[in-house]
Amino acid sequence: MQEEIQKMKEIVLIYLDRSGGLQKFVHDCKKYNESKQSYAVYRFVISINPSDIAELDATLGNYILHNPIKAAEVFQSVCFVAIKTLSLIEQLQTEAQISILLKPTHLPSLPSYVHSLSAFPFNYTSHRFYMSEGIVIAMGIVTKYTQGARFLCTEETCPFSEGFRYIRVHLPGATESATVRNDFVCSLCSSPLQEDMTFRVLGDKQIVEMIDAKVLNALKGYSNNKSHFRIQTFTVFLRDELANRMTIGNHYKIIGIPTCVQNGPQATACIEVSSVQLCKPNGPSFIGENFKYLLSLTSNSCWRFTALLANIFASQVVPPGTYNTLKLAILLSLVQTCEKESADYLDLLVVTSDTLVIDRLLNYSICLLPRGIRHPSSSDIFPSVSKDKHGTGSATIQACSVLLAKGGICYIGDLSSYKKDKLELLQSVLESRTTTLFIPGKKYGAEADQQVTLSVQTNFWSYIDMDSSSKKHIPKDSFLIGQMDLSLLPPNLLDVFGLLIYEFPSCRLSFPLVHHVLKRAINPEATLYRVSQQFRTQDYEEFILFAKNLHVEMSSEAENLIQGYYLASRRVRRDSMHGSNLSASALKILISLSKAHTKLSLRKKVLEEDALIAILLLESSLTLKHGKSALCIEPNAVFPFDLSDENSLQQRDIYLQKCHHHLLQFISAYGPGIHVNTKEE
Ligand SMILES: [Zn+2]
Repeated sequence: MQEEIQKMKEIVLIYLDRSGGLQKFVHDCKKYNESKQSYAVYRFVISINPSDIAELDATLGNYILHNPIKAAEVFQSVCFVAIKTLSLIEQLQTEAQISILLKPTHLPSLPSYVHSLSAFPFNYTSHRFYMSEGIVIAMGIVTKYTQGARFLCTEETCPFSEGFRYIRVHLPGATESATVRNDFVCSLCSSPLQEDMTFRVLGDKQIVEMIDAKVLNALKGYSNNKSHFRIQTFTVFLRDELANRMTIGNHYKIIGIPTCVQNGPQATACIEVSSVQLCKPNGPSFIGENFKYLLSLTSNSCWRFTALLANIFASQVVPPGTYNTLKLAILLSLVQTCEKESADYLDLLVVTSDTLVIDRLLNYSICLLPRGIRHPSSSDIFPSVSKDKHGTGSATIQACSVLLAKGGICYIGDLSSYKKDKLELLQSVLESRTTTLFIPGKKYGAEADQQVTLSVQTNFWSYIDMDSSSKKHIPKDSFLIGQMDLSLLPPNLLDVFGLLIYEFPSCRLSFPLVHHVLKRAINPEATLYRVSQQFRTQDYEEFILFAKNLHVEMSSEAENLIQGYYLASRRVRRDSMHGSNLSASALKILISLSKAHTKLSLRKKVLEEDALIAILLLESSLTLKHGKSALCIEPNAVFPFDLSDENSLQQRDIYLQKCHHHLLQFISAYGPGIHVNTKEE
């Protein structure tokens, strides 16, 4: 073995030289040397490319991958010799003062190097590198830990009462007490050792809790009734340069050494991380053949494809042709999900009196996204602060539903079931797309209070039950035409909730729906319609992942139409008390809706046709909130009649063209000075 180690040392030197690691090492030494300060521990991070090193020498490659702590000792001794021979650090006295961190750039892509966070049993005794991936569900604030410490013998006559003989360095998975304790004894004279506090080296430490991405399935619609389930998290340690390298709610790939931390009677399996990489899930690069065929059949109109998509969508839950407006809005919201900051969002609020069907439909729809979260009523929607479970007593931020739904949908159920303070919080989050947490220093053992602002990148879905709200509430006595009694909710909240959707009674509880519900109750697995086979749930799933990743741009015509409608509406929708009913957020919603419609049509340029659908949807929503305006659209503005055949699609196209014409007239009448494309006039 001794011979082998000697050979490995030689190869380490060759590797360091060839990989540029030696140069970096010399540079790091220089910094220590120039500081003139004497440390207990000198820490060096060495990046290792496993393929390169294995090619150079298989034994060393194997040693690094499977026995990294021992391998670090080989590097330690090489580095010590280098420092001494080249006089790189004057202050350095013993080899024990050198701490080496080996960080592999990657691991062999073999199953034996993958550690699943959900697999059992968990091998933490091997102390070797594994790859893992998961979503950050909770995150502690950064605290200090002891990187290294110097101990001295308390017996004055003992030679080890001075010098750097007893150096203790943090090893992966070690707790604070493993590094620093008061029951160590001198190996020479057996007197107790005492720490020389002036030499303690502190580093940054952050404890993160991760979950396997599969856990999110439990938070989808499937577990609707299981309000009592526990999410098993996995503890991950980020130290020094890795602290603050993760963001709560994100999906990461990590390389690290699994280990077990003993905290009193409790043992926690965890991973000491050596590298962190953000996972960006790519959407599929294709759509199903049936969608392609549908697209080619409908290429003569910009409205037909999305109309048919909506018409047959979710035929597993509701019969084709019912709830078309809502289903279109759902599809638009689904494709407007992404993890980018300052993205376009599209929140939905459904006004309904058949909550059962609506709830099923929304539940079904969130399952189409990897990050569709149904908020369980037993927990918090927004991030919260609690005490760390690992005994440090410091603050930990819990992601809760909204951050787990990052880049997806957070479905929060019945809006009227939330108390006033929650609704106020929801309103402020919808307005700012951020949430701020206050961490009192006193409570969590920190010197100062801290404030953490987290961005919220999710679309919210919710519904309100009209029947229950009219029971609880004394209705207002005067209504404008088309307006609904929404006095149960604070008007500002209604304003920030992008789109308000109400399906008019003609579409509800029709014969096909009753028939569907009964059939389903008798045989839940049955396929009731042919389209359910042609356009299966997973087809829609793929379709949405594809469409949401499309990058779309506004055309100047679409922009003009939106602007014209917005300005004209601001003038028209005005009351003496509050000024205009239309806030600036309406403009954002219009743009988001038009872009969504373009994505759903699998196009890249937003056309006037897309803007028209956006305007009709928003105008319907505004009518529900504030009553009809001079634009005066039909109650079911986007789907005024059933789509039974080719002829009805043709009729709808003619109707939408009329709407467009009507809209242009409205803009020129109420938005003077606005130039719009009036070729049809
Ligand atoms: Zn001693």
